Amino acid sequence: RGVDASDEAVRGTCDDASICKRFAVNIGYWVDPYIQHFVRQAKERKAPEISRGYYARVRAVNQLLDAFLERTECNCQVISLGAGLDTTFWRLKDESRLPKKYFEVDFPIIVSRKIHSIKSKPPLSKPIMDTHSGQSLLIDSHSLDSCRYCIIGADLRNLPDLEEKLRKFNLDTQLPTVLVAECVLVYMSQEQSANLIKWASCKFHTAMLINYEQVNMNDRFGQIMVENLQRRQCHLAGVEVCQSLESQRGRLLSNGWENATALDMMKVYSSLPQNDVGRIEKLEFLDEKELLEQLLLHYCISWATKDGQNLGLAEISF
Ligand code: SAM
Repeated sequence: RGVDASDEAVRGTCDDASICKRFAVNIGYWVDPYIQHFVRQAKERKAPEISRGYYARVRAVNQLLDAFLERTECNCQVISLGAGLDTTFWRLKDESRLPKKYFEVDFPIIVSRKIHSIKSKPPLSKPIMDTHSGQSLLIDSHSLDSCRYCIIGADLRNLPDLEEKLRKFNLDTQLPTVLVAECVLVYMSQEQSANLIKWASCKFHTAMLINYEQVNMNDRFGQIMVENLQRRQCHLAGVEVCQSLESQRGRLLSNGWENATALDMMKVYSSLPQNDVGRIEKLEFLDEKELLEQLLLHYCISWATKDGQNLGLAEISF
């Protein structure tokens, strides 16, 4: 069926993302000793603007996530939606700022691959074992559960199933919770992502949602981005929401969140710590500055908060 072929292409995006991240890490854009255990090295070079774009993406998501961990003093949960081969759990362990529990969700087929890597590579499994106590680890082909890290195979478009699985692995809806969706919602229809966003705002009284995805897709450059993905059978089902920063913000506010902000990545790039931006700009010569600007203008980070415990979540920003 066509639907499955397009799901297949969406699943392929998880390799793309991690291969680009690994390439940027190898050049020195940021440090991640774990990504090499999940994906092979890129076959060909990535253009410098691509690596700079990933740099901005990773720094931006980390900065918001870390601010939430700080406000809650790690007395919280993280749920990474469509986590793919993301390595944030291992970073937080190394930095001694793990939340009470770190959940990851992705399609079962991606999850079983990730579990296979974790099981076969001690640098990945050791941090999980080190933070585990009590009974033996619960592990099957589509899920792994330990005290602090849990990975679940589920379809984010099926909310009753998602919730049942999270609860089975002791999700605590009373704890402050941050949900991260990095390049994920755009692969769902507008209705499906709205339902997921609403579900998240209804379940927790103290929460934050961090979303990174395409924006300004109705101009010429945006159209080319969409066509490139379509050529690889990858359908941006939610592309309507990606028309403007206002529609990104509106979607969050109309689905139960109290506060929301949406910034394009050009703005974020100029708000990141400029000494580090200066450092990475020296790593590779960038011929076409305009191309980087175009790229950054077509991605955005949006975040929303709900602050039942008055932790000052609405103040989190760049
Ligand atoms: N968040 C990771 C990152 O930024 O490195 C991976 C991003 S990748 C572009 C998108 C991920 O979302 C893929 O791993 C894909 O399998 C997952 N995904 C997309 N739609 C999904 C759905 N309906 N249910 C579960 N996972 C989904």
